[in-house]
Amino acid sequence: MRCEIVAVGTELLLGQIVDTNSSWLGEQLALAGIDCHHHVRVGDNFERIEAVLRQALGRADAVIVCGGLGPTQDDITRDVIAAVMGVPLERHEDIGERIRRRFESRGRTMPENNLRQADVPRGATTMAQFPGTAPGLVCPVGDKVLYAVPGVPYELKIMTDGTIIPDLRARAGLPTVIGSRVLRTWGQSESGLAEMLAARIDELDAIGNPTIAFLASGIEGLKVRITAKGADESGMQQILADEEALLRGILGDLVFAVDDDNMESTIISKLAERGLTLGVAESLTGGFLGARLTSVPHASEVFRGSIVSYASAVKFDLLGVTPGPVVTEQCAREMALAARRVLDADVGLGVTGVAGPDPQDGEQPGTVYLAVAVHDDVEVRRVQLPGDRERVRQYSVISILNMLRLMLDGKPPRML
Ligand code: ATP
Ligand code: MG
Repeated sequence: MRCEIVAVGTELLLGQIVDTNSSWLGEQLALAGIDCHHHVRVGDNFERIEAVLRQALGRADAVIVCGGLGPTQDDITRDVIAAVMGVPLERHEDIGERIRRRFESRGRTMPENNLRQADVPRGATTMAQFPGTAPGLVCPVGDKVLYAVPGVPYELKIMTDGTIIPDLRARAGLPTVIGSRVLRTWGQSESGLAEMLAARIDELDAIGNPTIAFLASGIEGLKVRITAKGADESGMQQILADEEALLRGILGDLVFAVDDDNMESTIISKLAERGLTLGVAESLTGGFLGARLTSVPHASEVFRGSIVSYASAVKFDLLGVTPGPVVTEQCAREMALAARRVLDADVGLGVTGVAGPDPQDGEQPGTVYLAVAVHDDVEVRRVQLPGDRERVRQYSVISILNMLRLMLDGKPPRML
């Protein structure tokens, strides 16, 4: 597969601007394993552009033309391409609308001239990436192809990465590598998350690669999946890593794990990193907390154990909790401290509450107190959890694990 580059613009010949587009494109072709034997620069002249395109198509399988797609009279690239293809230009109303909206969103009215950018040679397709006001074109010429992209370097780069390189590689029979990464979040609703990411999603709509999608996973939070295409594994991984860093900047501590990691494995590794041990005193969760924590391989390095202090008398007699009502902030606090003391741990968790269906100690079902003691620093939160008995129990587990995660990172334990 051979591809030539044609840069259009009289200013390039006069030395008024340096042709950085051709050198950048040349580098991308080389990285993608596509041969390139000629770079040509040509002024804004119909006959000369036509001659150059015909010559390039005679020598190569594909040609990238950059520049001259703008709205003014000297922007004639699309007219020349139509002539080379032997087809008329057709106005695409949907593209015209998009261009008009671009202007209006910036509070400007669109000059009628700009509608020229909605003219597409018959048989050509427009590129999915649409960062400016001129669409990129993919124009079949016999069994060859001509790509037309704007001269604006930023737009050209997005279209090259998103359409031209993958298309050339596909034509060359070279594989495109697709991969994805999942960021797991907890602590924000789906609509809240969508709002936080709205601006980035709009940008990615224009760029086309990577893409992001939301996946709900019940009380385990929301997943944000990044999918990237690259010419090879390392290129694809780089796109994933860059996007992950960018999304983490927006989402902050909502992100608790990546891919196959979950809340409990995150906590076990955070404790191990910090050299801390963990003990649990759980009531309404009846052992779920201990079960989740022990599902992680090597949990034994940090997890001391869990006391299921279900009956009030066990809380008083075994843990030394002050006798009285047990659905209280004080009880949760004393349970967390007792978990540390009795189990000889650095960090203690205490969970007490009403799973339902009946009220207890004057509290309604779903009322739960969560206490985390990191050494002598104790935080207690009262939460009102939704759902039936089972759901309240499961929700209590994930809520206190997330609270512990935030505290281990030195963050205030926000609740959902
Ligand atoms: P527009 O829609 O903005 O008019 P266009 O496709 O008509 O885009 P040009 O008018 O040729 O492109 O160029 C737009 C701008 O892009 C130029 O002012 C210049 O800054 C830059 N540019 C054009 N060609 C090149 C090039 N070969 N190398 C680097 N920069 C370029
Ligand atoms: Mg122009």
